[in-house]
Amino acid sequence: MRFRFNSRALVWIFVFLSVLELSALPLNANDQVIALKAARMFDGKSRALVQNGIVIVQGDKIIDVGSNVTIPADAKVIDLGDATLSPGFMDAHTHITLDYTDYKATRLRELQSSASTKAYNAIPAARATVEAGFTTVRDVGARTYRSHDYVDVSLRDAIAKGIVVGPRMFVAANGIGATGGHFDDSAGYRDGLFGPEPDFADGIADGPDAIRKAVRFEVKNGVDVIKAAVSGGVLSLSDEVDTPQLTPAEMAALVDESHRLRKKVAVHCHGDQAGREAIEAGVDSIEHGSFFKPETLTLMKNKGTFLTPTLMAAEYIKGKLDAYPPALQAKGIAAYNARSEMFRNALKIGVKISFGTDAAVFPHGENAKEFKLMVDLGMPPVDALRSATSSGAELIGVAQKLGTLEKGKLADVIAMPGDPTTDITATERVRFVMKEGKIIRNGPVTPPPPRTAAQTVSTDLGADF
Ligand SMILES: [Zn+2]
Repeated sequence: MRFRFNSRALVWIFVFLSVLELSALPLNANDQVIALKAARMFDGKSRALVQNGIVIVQGDKIIDVGSNVTIPADAKVIDLGDATLSPGFMDAHTHITLDYTDYKATRLRELQSSASTKAYNAIPAARATVEAGFTTVRDVGARTYRSHDYVDVSLRDAIAKGIVVGPRMFVAANGIGATGGHFDDSAGYRDGLFGPEPDFADGIADGPDAIRKAVRFEVKNGVDVIKAAVSGGVLSLSDEVDTPQLTPAEMAALVDESHRLRKKVAVHCHGDQAGREAIEAGVDSIEHGSFFKPETLTLMKNKGTFLTPTLMAAEYIKGKLDAYPPALQAKGIAAYNARSEMFRNALKIGVKISFGTDAAVFPHGENAKEFKLMVDLGMPPVDALRSATSSGAELIGVAQKLGTLEKGKLADVIAMPGDPTTDITATERVRFVMKEGKIIRNGPVTPPPPRTAAQTVSTDLGADF
C-alpha cells in the first residue's frame, strides 16, 4: 500500500517541526538569569587570575563574563565571597564504574558482580566526582569481564538525560589490548577457567585486522574515544610493566581505524619503547608514561601528543603497598620511582599535559588531589589549573563549548575558597558546582551511602583469603 499525506497531516507535521525548532533555540527568555560573583576568577586559559570575577548565566550558557560586567536587574545573584570562580574541572582519565581501592577484594568482586550491580554502585561515584568540581570526565575503560554490557555508555546517557547526577562523560568501554596483555582479564588465572579465550568483543585482539575489528566493535557499541593498552601495566598479574604489547603495525591500524571513524585514541603506556612507537603511530594521548625518556618526551612535544600523567594512581598504591600481591608491589614501586623524573622532564620539554588521575585506583571524588602532586613536582599552579580546563577540553575535542569561562560557552562553573594559585589544595575544597547552568552543589557535599552489601561481603572474604 502506498502511503499518502493528506493536507491535515502536512499541517500537523509542520506544527511538530516548528515546536522542535523552538526547543532547539539556545536561550529561552523565561530562563532565570543567574549572576555568580567571587573575589577572583580563573578563566581557564589566562596565566593570571581576574579580580572581582562575575559570570552571568542564562539557561545552559554563559552570556557574559569579566570583572566589569553589568549584572541585569532581574538576575538572581549568588555571591561566593572570598573564592575563585573557575571553569568546571575535567579529568581525562577516570573509571567511574570501577573500584580498585581494595585490590584483593576487587579481584573477587569482579567475579561476583553483575553489570547491573556495577551500574548501581557507579551512581554515588558519579555524584562524588561531579560534586568535587569535575563536570567533565573522559572515562577510559569499564569492562565487565565476560559480559558485553556497556555500563559506562549507559551511565553517560543516564547522566545526559538527568536520570543520574554526574559529570558529562566521554567513554571508552572495553579498551583494546593483546592476548595476555594488560587488558586481558583472564591472564593470571588457570588456562580455560573462564571458557574460550577472550576476543575482539572483549577488546582482545592480535594483528592489524583484528585490531580494526575491535575498534569497529567499540564504536558500534557507542564509545566516544578508543582506549588501548600498548605496554604492560601495574595492576595486571602476568605482564611486565614496561614491555610493548602491540606491534607498530597493530598501532598503525589502531590509530588509522579510530581516526577514520573520528574517534581519538588514548593509550595506556608505561614503557618507553611502546611509547615511542605509539607516538609515531599518531595516538592522541599517552596515559601514565612512567618510564619515558627525554627523547620520547621530545617526540611527544613535536607531534603534539598529550600526556595524561595520573600521578595519583602510583601515589595511592605506594601508600598501601601491603594490600597488593608481591608482583604488583614491585611494578608499583618501579612506576612510582620513574614517574617523578619523567614528569619533571615533560614540564621542561613542554609536553602538552592533560589533567588525569586514574580515579577507581583511589576513591572517586578525590580527583583534585592530583593538582598538588603536579605542583609539588614543579608545575606552576596556574598551568595545573589549565591542564584541567582548556587543555582537557582540547584533548577531548570540546574546546568550542567547554574548558573556559567565555561568552557563549556552556555554563560549567565551579568555585573554590581562597586563591588556588597561592594554595593549590583549594582545588580539593570546591564548594559550588554548576553544570550546564544547573546548580549541582552550593555548600556541603552529599554524604556517601554506606558500603553496599556486595562490597562488604567481598571485602571480608578478601581479608580472609
Ligand atoms: Zn586507568
